[in-house]
Amino acid sequence: MNTFGEAVLRIGIAMLQGARSEHAQALLQVDSEIEIVELRRPSDLLLGIDALILPGGESTSMRLASASKGLLKSLFDWMIENKDKPVLGTCAGAILLCQPEFELTPFVDAMISRNSFGRQSDSFQAKLKVRIIEESEFSGVFIRAPRFIENGCQAVAWLGDEVVGILDGNRMALTFHPELTDDLLFHRWLITQASA
Ligand code: GLN
Repeated sequence: MNTFGEAVLRIGIAMLQGARSEHAQALLQVDSEIEIVELRRPSDLLLGIDALILPGGESTSMRLASASKGLLKSLFDWMIENKDKPVLGTCAGAILLCQPEFELTPFVDAMISRNSFGRQSDSFQAKLKVRIIEESEFSGVFIRAPRFIENGCQAVAWLGDEVVGILDGNRMALTFHPELTDDLLFHRWLITQASA
């Protein structure tokens, strides 16, 4: 509740590993009234969330970090039960959306290849074309980034001719790190969708 007694938006961030606090800061810059829900164990989902961020980092470490408490499984169950709620998966988070667990169908209609731009030292920053409502430029930070091999989704970001951001329903997968730039476009999108 905010100071006027109104319900506030609750945005969950998977706290398994990787770039997490940067997402929280970006969300609070868009709207300081939202509540950030740090998701560490399945019970953290009990009070409900309106949107979810799967951060970047290292997807294998995230799967391992999830093994003891089963957080990823509970997030996947939440996504199955809440098909319309917005989800933003960045880099390793995009990998999890495309390759959840072998018995689950992907949460976005795409195939992805890990570490496909090369090693850590091949990380780079580049100007992207993005189209969310309207077309603009965005500075994309790629860190051991994956690549979409094929996808049946709406493209929302391009590096040259290559699609680096996709939208499937209300689930967005980006192969770069929007939380590492000052541009709040993607966090604004998530909050707008969550309040719709
Ligand atoms: N290479 C990582 C993986 O395979 C993703 C990198 C990132 O999230 N920056 O999970």
